[in-house]
Amino acid sequence: MAETKPRITDIGPPDYKKFLPPVVAKNYGQWKYHEQLEPGVMVHVAESGDMIYTIRAASPRLLATETIRFYAEVAEKYCDGHLRFTSRHNVEFLTSEKANVPKIKKELEDRGNLIGGIGSRITSIVHTQGWVHCHSAATDASGVVKATMDELADYFTTIETPAKCRIALACCLNMCGAVHCSDIAILGIHTGRPRIDHANLNKICEIPNLSASCPTAAIRPKTVDGTPSVEVIEENCMYCANCFTVCPAMPLADADLDGVSIWVGGKVSNARSKPRFSKLAVPFLPNTPPRWPEVTGAVKTIVEAWAGNARKYERVGDWIERIGWPRFFKLTGFEFSKEHIDDYKFAGLSLQRTAQIHHVDWDD
Ligand code: SF4
Ligand code: SF4
Repeated sequence: MAETKPRITDIGPPDYKKFLPPVVAKNYGQWKYHEQLEPGVMVHVAESGDMIYTIRAASPRLLATETIRFYAEVAEKYCDGHLRFTSRHNVEFLTSEKANVPKIKKELEDRGNLIGGIGSRITSIVHTQGWVHCHSAATDASGVVKATMDELADYFTTIETPAKCRIALACCLNMCGAVHCSDIAILGIHTGRPRIDHANLNKICEIPNLSASCPTAAIRPKTVDGTPSVEVIEENCMYCANCFTVCPAMPLADADLDGVSIWVGGKVSNARSKPRFSKLAVPFLPNTPPRWPEVTGAVKTIVEAWAGNARKYERVGDWIERIGWPRFFKLTGFEFSKEHIDDYKFAGLSLQRTAQIHHVDWDD
């Protein structure tokens, strides 16, 4: 009987090795070193002596079809069709011909693309869906990020910083972005509890599921005007919007109460110091589209305070750890408020539990 091949039904991503540039496939796992040649351009050198050049350009993340076609044309012309996107949405063109580097740069620059983001610079901002796509967004994503990167564009192209600086945005505290582990994080927050549509809740939502969706047990069944519904215990609510995800009769978005908080000091890297979570710097800034001046101003304040005072290779969190939080607030001019006190009941397991803090010379 003829052997029948199993039908492949999995529609997951194809094996990435099929798409490697030939020089990368040939030298896979055999790379000796890499170095930055100029802002946005680096070379990797293999044990065999083979080289591959990378030219990195900023992408706006939400890409027009025309932009993607342009990237593809450049890649076809100079890179045998190869390009890649970094985890922070930069586009990288890869070529083993050194002579192609200035040609690729010219094509990109002629179309207004910024080249940079490699090494000790601020790279593009990773962000979430925002008002464009997600139901629980407390702020926009693309708009805030565009306004912030416009302010910081020179840090992408020319200005070197003491170390890498990763900036992230998540438009609510479900945190689809990397805000918990980035040097500077912009986080959309709601500050009011859900409004309950008692007339419709029982028709479109399962009350037990709705109660179970609340991580702080703030939702309880309640009969209102003879109709089964729920109540929200305000002091238990942390405005997370989980309930709205399972029940559209619990809307949370509010033009006045929604806004943005800023967090600092997170990182994933193990280099020089351990990975750490971001901590609160600014509890609330209003949503002020289209350019969010309060948010971009606060981010720039942190960048300038860090870049002007940190030692070489000191990430934002390492710098704050060395100088102490009181000095961070003094240098940035941010106000210390009750929101900065972490009262999460399990925080004792992870926080320093002594009364000792860094010595701070207030006249320094
Ligand atoms: S962070 Fe929140 S609002 Fe933004 S995409 Fe994720 S779930 Fe939606
Ligand atoms: S917003 Fe979050 S904490 Fe508040 S009631 Fe809804 S699920 Fe619970």
